[in-house]
Amino acid sequence: MSDIFSILDIRMPMSETYRLLCNRYGNGKGPRVAIVAGIHGDEFNGLGVCYQVTAFLNKLERDNPGALRGTIDVLPGVNAIALDNGGRYWPSYNADLNRRFPGNPDGSPPHRAPAALLDFLSGTDVCIDIHASNIYLQEASQVRMLDRFSPELIPLAQYLNLQVIWVHAASTVLETTLSYNLNLRNTKTLVVEMGIGLRYEDTICTALFEGILALLKAKGVLADLDLPEIHAPEPPVIATDKDVYYFNAKHSGFFVSIAPLWEPVKPGDLIGYIVDPLGGRLLEEIKSPKAGRLFTTRPFPMVYEGSLCGRLLLDRDRAGEAL
Ligand SMILES: [Zn+2]
Repeated sequence: MSDIFSILDIRMPMSETYRLLCNRYGNGKGPRVAIVAGIHGDEFNGLGVCYQVTAFLNKLERDNPGALRGTIDVLPGVNAIALDNGGRYWPSYNADLNRRFPGNPDGSPPHRAPAALLDFLSGTDVCIDIHASNIYLQEASQVRMLDRFSPELIPLAQYLNLQVIWVHAASTVLETTLSYNLNLRNTKTLVVEMGIGLRYEDTICTALFEGILALLKAKGVLADLDLPEIHAPEPPVIATDKDVYYFNAKHSGFFVSIAPLWEPVKPGDLIGYIVDPLGGRLLEEIKSPKAGRLFTTRPFPMVYEGSLCGRLLLDRDRAGEAL
């Protein structure tokens, strides 16, 4: 039977209680996989994925209870009080929980929650931390990982049915994230980034759900059954920083995004343009210098000089040269 329990309770100023809730399937034995969402309160796609997983496991418990061979922990609402009102950060402190790890069990609430979460997840065989960009940028479905952890993470990420695996060079800001701290503790953690904030996008969430089932099966958490929801995952593109071109605004203004996410673009294709709503002037046309696919677009139109307007995943020829 599944078991919903609280990992941490924090009394709030007006008598509510923050609860870090987990739904556990299995008895804690066997291989253990955790699915985490809602660290940022303006990201809802992960909640939809968690629902698909828990609904599937509820049905499996009824129809085929012997198929569960390990333990699955589902935590859809890490920053529940922010999710309640669609804000990104922990209220009052305006704190980004994913910049507070490893946290502090004796600190303020936005430090206690990360400390409790990190302690609970350490030792999990695989953790999947689902994000949904922010309100500004729309992302193709992807797993992001640091180069130093990639040899162990890429084989796991390939199950997840996403479009891109983006392997980053080192970056100091990432040292305060959940994924960095778990990977440092040898808990293999995959960060999924997909879609856009404040929305639920069913197609990409269902693709990830199916990928998670494939991963659960591969890790032996689910018996090797021919379940209809488990399809062979589509192979993702594996990209490093040299495969990524950034479109940054040269003017402040009103950005109109033209090229759709994940559509192929050729050199010279228009990505979008920036206009001046007051003076009726065209300030800038943003064109692609190379061939590739946009894996980040910007539906949010207000831009400042330097704002990110998109990212291009470069096509490469057989020698590895950008086209
Ligand atoms: Zn996020």
